[in-house]
Amino acid sequence: MRASLEGIPEYKAGQRPAPREDITTFKVSSNENPYPPLPRVLDVIANAASEINRYPDPGASDLIAAIGRYHAVPESHIAVGTGAVALCYQVANCTAEAGDEIIYPWRSFEAYPIVSRVAGATPVPVPLTDAFEHDLPAMASAINERTRLIFLCSPNNPTGTALSGSAVNEFLDQVPKDVLVVLDEAYIEFCDDSEISNGIPSYQERNNVAVLRTFSKAYGLAGLRVGYAIAPEHIVTALKKTALPFGVSGVAQAAAVASLDDDAELMQRVDALIAERSRVQTLLRATNVPISDSQANFVWIATGDRTDEFSLACDAAGLTVRPFPGEGARVTIAEPEANDRLVQIAANFAHPEPPEAHR
Ligand SMILES: *Cc1c(COP(=O)(O)O)cnc(C)c1O
Repeated sequence: MRASLEGIPEYKAGQRPAPREDITTFKVSSNENPYPPLPRVLDVIANAASEINRYPDPGASDLIAAIGRYHAVPESHIAVGTGAVALCYQVANCTAEAGDEIIYPWRSFEAYPIVSRVAGATPVPVPLTDAFEHDLPAMASAINERTRLIFLCSPNNPTGTALSGSAVNEFLDQVPKDVLVVLDEAYIEFCDDSEISNGIPSYQERNNVAVLRTFSKAYGLAGLRVGYAIAPEHIVTALKKTALPFGVSGVAQAAAVASLDDDAELMQRVDALIAERSRVQTLLRATNVPISDSQANFVWIATGDRTDEFSLACDAAGLTVRPFPGEGARVTIAEPEANDRLVQIAANFAHPEPPEAHR
């Protein structure tokens, strides 16, 4: 095996709850959408399934046309992949090789260190600030002549913090024009603050920016594996060269097209999840557990050294969260019952004994 594979961290997926008789359990460890697929999308999937003896359209032409219409961008500026995570692998393989450096915030999406090493490049993680946000000045300072690729993740997984449009543009102004910047916007649909960066205008103004989006989170198609990049044509051409042929199934292509058609209904669900996030964050703040300011479909609870303890308390109450030992826990906003349980656990965790006066 290639020596550079040594030390590649394993992708740690969110755990599933063990079956329980006593209580309903919730998987809140992978930022999945709690809503089941829309009936119309399920019908489209069933119809597309009748053709799975055939290979899918390798050019995903219907889907690319639908994405082009949706974002008002040329079809030659769109590449689809088996989830946005596949596009993360592709951008790394397109830009970097041994001796090259890939800069990303840390802690952030688990895939960045992995895709950097798989490409043979040197990962350059730049720690988040104390407010769990990207440290853009430090990221800009990390750029040198070996830098080939920079990931920004907004909202950031797992801390949920998002970058403002002005901060992103100020950062982009400091990046050499031959270094690719990927704006990973897997959760952008959950942002409810108009100051937050939308990568599409940033890509339109520059030649070295790619925006990643996915159908896995807001659109609720995580199991079908489909995401896309919007980028200038020379980047899309390179992404297509590094794509797995026939990677995105016909079922996934059809479901993604149907989901864009049903965007209005799906965005009502997103609005309901945003309202739940806001409710949960307010209640969590009242418990005094330290949390970040999340703009995504999850909250970040900075439990630090007590993260394992917190995660076990959640497990005991039927919530399977995503712990990052020593740092904190990421908990997906899910059904109201799961969200209520999270607030209760956090309150007990912050104040194990009720205060004297309230006994
Ligand atoms: C979930 C996620 C993705 C992509 O998910 P796919 O299911 O591969 O589309 C990309 N980036 C971040 C930050 C994510 O959290």
